[in-house]
Amino acid sequence: MTNQETTMDKLISLCKRRGYIFGSSEIYGGLSAVYDYGPLGAELKRNIKNFWWKWMVQKRDNIVGLDAAILMHPRVWEASGHVAGFQDPLVDCKVTKKRYRADQVYVLRPKDGGNDGLMFAFKEGDDELAARKVKNIAKADASTYEKLALTDIPLREFSRIVGPDMKEPGSLTEPRQFNLMFKTHVGPVEDNANVVYMRPETAQGIYVNFTNVINSTRVKVPFGIAQIGKAFRNEITTENFIFRTREFEQMEMQFFVRPGTDMAWFETWKQDRIDYYRQLGIRQEKLRFHEHGEDELAHYAAAAFDIQYEFPFGWKELEGIHNRTDFDLKRHQEWSGRDQSYFDDEVKEKYVPYIVETSAGCDRTLLTVLVDAFAEEKLENDMRTVLRLHPALAPIKAGIFPLVKKEGLSDIAIKLKDELKQHYPVFYDEGGAVGRRYRRQDEIGTPFCFTIDFQTKEDETVTVRDRDSMQQKRIPIRGVFDYLFSKIDKGE
Ligand code: ATP
Repeated sequence: MTNQETTMDKLISLCKRRGYIFGSSEIYGGLSAVYDYGPLGAELKRNIKNFWWKWMVQKRDNIVGLDAAILMHPRVWEASGHVAGFQDPLVDCKVTKKRYRADQVYVLRPKDGGNDGLMFAFKEGDDELAARKVKNIAKADASTYEKLALTDIPLREFSRIVGPDMKEPGSLTEPRQFNLMFKTHVGPVEDNANVVYMRPETAQGIYVNFTNVINSTRVKVPFGIAQIGKAFRNEITTENFIFRTREFEQMEMQFFVRPGTDMAWFETWKQDRIDYYRQLGIRQEKLRFHEHGEDELAHYAAAAFDIQYEFPFGWKELEGIHNRTDFDLKRHQEWSGRDQSYFDDEVKEKYVPYIVETSAGCDRTLLTVLVDAFAEEKLENDMRTVLRLHPALAPIKAGIFPLVKKEGLSDIAIKLKDELKQHYPVFYDEGGAVGRRYRRQDEIGTPFCFTIDFQTKEDETVTVRDRDSMQQKRIPIRGVFDYLFSKIDKGE
């Protein structure tokens, strides 16, 4: 087992043990790539959404919110291009019945006129595994092989390919296109006339409400509409815990601008969004931009950058920032017959705005903050597991402990807990040694613990112990709320 696997394994086990994340319908054997958030996970997720909303909507004057329905008129998805084009190439293994996304499979092919030699297919990132297979099966060195995309291998050569989970060649089918949208039916009759889709992105709900927002508020271009909501994709391959799932939540913002100003706004949003992740407490060196090359650009995009995070399983997309041009509004104008143009009284000009989009995954952000916060530390004669979550994100903001139950200490502690609970989720714990109580809070990311001891009765002070530094100091019991407020809401 590699180190990387152990980090993820440990995190997944912590998530289950402490009630962050459970597999869906576990008592029935689970549903593949669907997850439920437990008591702590639900708090963390809500805190992430609040953080995003505050950053994107509340603090600004030029962005408004929206909460559109998941089910939309099916024509929306024709106009958007999803019915025709939201598909991934799929390959099946006839023997193992496993499915792969063809664009995520690579092949090692002999360099020297390998006209009849075996080729070895492998999933993205599994280069080492493939090299071992070359050694074991073809008795050759991987350096004499070249790495190609599966989609670049001619079909007639597929019979020579050893599939990613196979030892024998010839089991992979030819790639075919697979639409990722989930379908369902509106009303009691299940026929093609009443098919609707579960939205695969929240963005379209924003576009079709563009004129509603313009007409009902006082926003003027440039402005944005932000939305948080569920999206569904029937992904061919799911992977890495909650990284890629079939049901997930997006946090998207669509910024409407005058054509010609779009690239400047694109740059502004790139910077803003990377600043956001730093503000969220994500380690700077674990973040980077990835620019989409010509071959990666979506049909609607003039420019696209991903913000990537270095997960234990490699650098992966966390958020996409796209210049979508006037593609979406023009398509909806065409399909609906409704005018989507805007009269700009500043320049006295009518145009269909360009859109710069920032599209983040909420579940993926949650995985990122957990991975980034997770640490195991060696102490003098102990080990501790700690989640160094930003105080604004931590599900429980403080542990409240009486040093001992007797002599009225619990009463003081319970009173403090009840007062704080009006404002913050806090946790009262009177069981076991204080050191053990600290460890239990460290493991779930609680940033502060307040202990009521005998001195409290004398001078009305408590100790506050900091999760990260493990330092303790005394503060007045009356100052506990202000202390939490300054750390959580003011970020001091
Ligand atoms: P990919 O090409 O990896 O399938 P994408 O580039 O199509 O993904 P976008 O459509 O740009 O992804 O989605 C925007 C954001 O939504 C992503 O950056 C990610 O955070 C989130 N997201 C997309 N698909 C999933 C999924 N299946 N599970 C969890 N989050 C997702």
